Amino acid sequence: MIRSGPQRRAVERNGMAREIVIRISVPDGVNVAVSQGTQQPQQQRPFVERPAPPQPAGGCPEHGTAWDLVPAGVSKKAVNADGSPKRYNAFWACPERGCNQMPPRDAPVVQYQSALVDLSDDPNLPF
Ligand SMILES: [Zn+2]
Repeated sequence: MIRSGPQRRAVERNGMAREIVIRISVPDGVNVAVSQGTQQPQQQRPFVERPAPPQPAGGCPEHGTAWDLVPAGVSKKAVNADGSPKRYNAFWACPERGCNQMPPRDAPVVQYQSALVDLSDDPNLPF
């Protein structure tokens, strides 16, 4: 019996070591270095602007209030290495003053019911 098509190979998943292939394209003359650990002083990452995250379900465990969206802005205290104020993206937090509670990273997202109504069966439509 002759088998056609590509042969399937079992993928081993038992090994502890993971092989991660990362392909990076860099222009000529640029050095790429891979360092392990955190021996070097932490470099400040450039600020990356992100859209506001979706509303997390639930609320502050201390106050029972729903999470409030804090719009993106500029920090009044934290500054960058060059002294300029740090920017931050929008995030969800407890609206109570002085409360530092924030939704957990894996908090489920609030699902809104779709406001769209299916009219395809409506006989009054002109098309
Ligand atoms: Zn709170």
